Amino acid sequence: MSLLEFSDRGIHCPQADVYIDPWRAVDRAVITHAHSDHARRGHRHYLCSPVTEPLLRTRLDRYASISTLAPGRSVTVNGVRFSLHPAGHIPGSMQVRVEHQGEVWVATGDHKRDPDGVSEPFEPVRCHTFITECTFGLPIYRWPDPAEVFAEIDAWWRQNASEGVCSILSAYSLGKAQRVLMGVDRGIGPIYVHGAVANMNEALAQAGLQLPEVKQVTPDTPKEELKKALVITPGSAIGTPWTRRMRPFSTAMVSGWMQLRGWRRRGNLDRGFVLSDHADWDDLLQAVKDTGAERIIATHGYTDHFSRFLRECGYDATSESTEFAGESEEGSSGTSTRSVDPPGRPEGGPGRPEQTPQA
Ligand SMILES: [Zn+2]
Ligand SMILES: [Zn+2]
Repeated sequence: MSLLEFSDRGIHCPQADVYIDPWRAVDRAVITHAHSDHARRGHRHYLCSPVTEPLLRTRLDRYASISTLAPGRSVTVNGVRFSLHPAGHIPGSMQVRVEHQGEVWVATGDHKRDPDGVSEPFEPVRCHTFITECTFGLPIYRWPDPAEVFAEIDAWWRQNASEGVCSILSAYSLGKAQRVLMGVDRGIGPIYVHGAVANMNEALAQAGLQLPEVKQVTPDTPKEELKKALVITPGSAIGTPWTRRMRPFSTAMVSGWMQLRGWRRRGNLDRGFVLSDHADWDDLLQAVKDTGAERIIATHGYTDHFSRFLRECGYDATSESTEFAGESEEGSSGTSTRSVDPPGRPEGGPGRPEQTPQA
């Protein structure tokens, strides 16, 4: 019996009968973060970080049975010690450390090392076995400096505003939208958000996060205001009647997938900005190294390529299939009606490398 096993319900600790980010209903679930592919409805009891709690209540169920565990604190279930450590992916996102009789495993959920102004910074955790996502686990994925990306976003917005064109920016409602909010130059013009983003901002404010004041787009929003505005929305609202009254407008998306030009073209977007909530190739390798683990299990993303590369480097690396979706649009509070992200890509993960368009 392994300390953690991959079952048809999720990542399971049989000794404690606890699951990590299970995708089928279970009694006891530890949730790494509130993105919908990791935090699902229907579990009897949830354990998560304090910041994740209001997000789960907003996104899943107001009355769910939820306990919180502060980062670095631990809880012991049938001799197995569980603790949470910041994953740097979105606000509240945690890696789960599991220890039993001296053996330590860490399951990351999603993670990134670039500081983003809203998430607790990634904390490397020593372990024997490291279960990691590898959404962008191909050497072609290397992120530019986020400061440069924000300068590009500001320049695009400033240019549009000077021409009386509304700037509509597609960003995931949880994590990316807030990162954008903190990163752009708020002196350029007013910032408006879609209701899905407003809901997440409200839940994060309940968790104690200080976010800049923004306005929600309503039918009463003056058209004059929109001409200079940056409108942050989930991609699902672009191309719907919701954007019609913002004309004239320019559209853009912030995502790691924007590193591949094909996504932008197929999504009918005017601009694409490369900004991801996930580690790029170099940071994935760094994360692996920092754990000191000899055994690596790659979960979602380019698992085969990533684990093969690690084996060539001397690691005992394998991949496991899960039902995590990689970097895809999040259904937010029932407001989005269709899935749109990464443009042109079917929902459910980045597909195999040979299916991705050439950069
Ligand atoms: Zn995520
Ligand atoms: Zn994930």
